[in-house]
Amino acid sequence: MAVIRDVMPAFDLLQPDSIADAQRLLQQNGSDAWIMAGGLDSFDWLKDRIKKPRVLVDLSGIDELKGIRATSDGVEIGAMTTLTDIANDPEIRKNYSVLSDAVSVVASPQIRNQGTLGGNVSQDARCWYYRGGWPCYRAGGDICYADTPVGRNREHAIFGANRCVAVHPSDSAPALIVLDAKFVIQTPKGERSVDAEDYFVGPETDITRLNILEPGDLLTAIRIPSAWAGANFYFEKVRDRNVWDFPLMNVASAKVLNGNAISRIRIAVNAAAPRPMRLKQVEDAVVGKPADASTGQAAGELAVQGAVPLQFNAYKIPLMRNLVKRAIAGTPEGA
Ligand SMILES: Cc1cc2nc3c(=O)[nH]c(=O)nc-3n(C[C@H](O)[C@H](O)[C@H](O)COP(=O)(O)OP(=O)(O)OC[C@H]3O[C@@H](n4cnc5c(N)ncnc54)[C@H](O)[C@@H]3O)c2cc1C
Ligand code: SF4
Repeated sequence: MAVIRDVMPAFDLLQPDSIADAQRLLQQNGSDAWIMAGGLDSFDWLKDRIKKPRVLVDLSGIDELKGIRATSDGVEIGAMTTLTDIANDPEIRKNYSVLSDAVSVVASPQIRNQGTLGGNVSQDARCWYYRGGWPCYRAGGDICYADTPVGRNREHAIFGANRCVAVHPSDSAPALIVLDAKFVIQTPKGERSVDAEDYFVGPETDITRLNILEPGDLLTAIRIPSAWAGANFYFEKVRDRNVWDFPLMNVASAKVLNGNAISRIRIAVNAAAPRPMRLKQVEDAVVGKPADASTGQAAGELAVQGAVPLQFNAYKIPLMRNLVKRAIAGTPEGA
């Protein structure tokens, strides 16, 4: 079990100042290397002495990884851009506001000032057994402590369980999925770009990680195409406390309306499953229908079909139903 200590285990601190240099160091050190962005997730693991990398590759000195740039078809956000910079960026707020809305409710102002977009989408699961150093499936063991009759699983998954029932904790992920963002990854074999929804992996693919990155890979940027620029967006996060807290669930949608009829839509939720869920079935079912409460109700019912609650999280089923309903109808209930 984890014992919290003030002193981190010793590691070599490497501080590249270019992407090429970082890549070289990552490739040289393979699975011995730990990438550090803002450090908010990283330092938890290191200070709890649960993860003990031999080498830390600190990205903070790489200017190429920072900033928001216009492209010929949208915007590119460097992986080391802070959540605060994204929340305040005029172009993101004007045309891609589902993302600025999502990052604005991540944690606290201090965490948003330090936390980066690359780190937010690459952060690890928050299941307290795993974070506490318990030797569960995700940590390489052969048991899930959360998925037992007495396990503490109120925050855990209602979809996608496969031995592990932890959820993906990111608020930015569903917003990036509805914007059809592309994640740019430098690998030892060259650059590759993947759709946002394909960046994340569930335990059926690999129970020890939440994304597709292999040792030696570096997420360098996230590109948002103009396909959904200026759409009718919705983002809502439900959490236990409004000061700072991870999502119990969140929802993001992008709609293009013809009158009040939905002509194009994307909708995604997070913290419902071990990876963010794009609700393709719901999207297909509501095209051509009015963006109103009745369509939203039917969409919500469809979205929760197949949900399997654990002992203490059945509340997530009506929560998801209502979030999807509101993301279709467009107004928070009671507003
Ligand atoms: C108290 C607290 C509350 C929080 N609440 C929320 C919340 O409500 N919603 C939410 O979405 N998030 C929340 N977070 C997460 C936070 O927003 C950070 O974004 C996140 O922890 C990691 O960002 P970071 O830049 O600090 O990355 P780090 O902690 O340095 O890195 C996180 C992980 O990503 C990897 N990584 C980082 N950058 C790259 C890259 N470019 N390429 C490859 N791998 C990379 C690292 O190796 C590490 O495994 C919270 C965190 C804390 C500590
Ligand atoms: S939910 Fe996943 S991370 Fe949590 S105890 Fe079970 S296997 Fe480990």
